[in-house]
Amino acid sequence: MGRSCFVLYLTAFCCLFGLLRGSPGDADPIYQGCVLQCEETGCIGDKCFRNCNFSDPKNVSWYGQEPHYLEWKKWVCQSDCRYYCMIAREDERQRLGYKPHKYHRKWPSKHVHGIQEPAAVLLSLLTLAMHFHGWISFLIHVNYNLPFRPNKKPYYEYTGLWHVYAFFAMNSWLWSGAFHSRDIEFTEKLDCSSAVALMGYALFLAIIRVFSLRTEAARVIVAAPIFAFAITHILYLNFYEFDHRWNTIVSMLIDVTQATLWCVWVGVSRHPSRWTLWAVILGGVPATILMIYDFPPYWGFVDAHAIWHATMLPLTYLWWSFVRDDCEFRTSVLVNKEK
Ligand SMILES: [Zn+2]
Repeated sequence: MGRSCFVLYLTAFCCLFGLLRGSPGDADPIYQGCVLQCEETGCIGDKCFRNCNFSDPKNVSWYGQEPHYLEWKKWVCQSDCRYYCMIAREDERQRLGYKPHKYHRKWPSKHVHGIQEPAAVLLSLLTLAMHFHGWISFLIHVNYNLPFRPNKKPYYEYTGLWHVYAFFAMNSWLWSGAFHSRDIEFTEKLDCSSAVALMGYALFLAIIRVFSLRTEAARVIVAAPIFAFAITHILYLNFYEFDHRWNTIVSMLIDVTQATLWCVWVGVSRHPSRWTLWAVILGGVPATILMIYDFPPYWGFVDAHAIWHATMLPLTYLWWSFVRDDCEFRTSVLVNKEK
């Protein structure tokens, strides 16, 4: 079950943001006017942004088209304008005694050396490191601690699938860090696309493990519709419409399906590591509470979402611990069968 809950939370963050699409901060006409003026002039008061300077003739190539990096500059300009307009507006609101507002689905957070949400970036990268550690320890366990079949392959039937899972997980947390570091269209799309890819793959893996599907034919039958759906959804988000609300619905559907599978399995299974899975499930309760009782950042850095990221660290550790135990359990069952 571990993965299901784990993915559930991943969806929740990518997509709960989506449900809160119209944040009150960015609906504020004063803020909107500030961003518009900043994008046109490249300045807020005395502060000017070099990424908002598009008039440089050197930026136009010999065949008269804008180079692709100008697109990047526009995103960075918009990001800078939004940040400084948000800070100016929030200072003003604070002086008037108002509570903080969310802007573009995020609480106002202090930047550190251009990094927009340092706490979330650090915790995303730590989660990536935890996945790397979990994957390496799984690799060592399979290759050095457990016996091999006579054909020199591991007994555990899902070894290759977990290697691929580790890649999707690390990729997803890498782009989560990038997105929290700089919230622009490019990083947001990569973050959500990577999360959808991870969730799709995790659902496939859940079905394979829960139903103990070992033949290639059965695996292909499960993989084909799930991968086709996930790829279509990613293409839709990136090339047709980046619709947060629709992405939320799709992600929730994938997660609920997966969560149900793991929860039923852990409930009926006599797996020796079922308590590890229960720990992952129960460990997810505080994460869910954080989603409901969303609060603005303390000291300008630590908001509910940052703490949600922190809860991912022990869950990741427990999850890979389950994977190692499952590998050991299946290996011992198969070795005993051969005797
Ligand atoms: Zn996040």
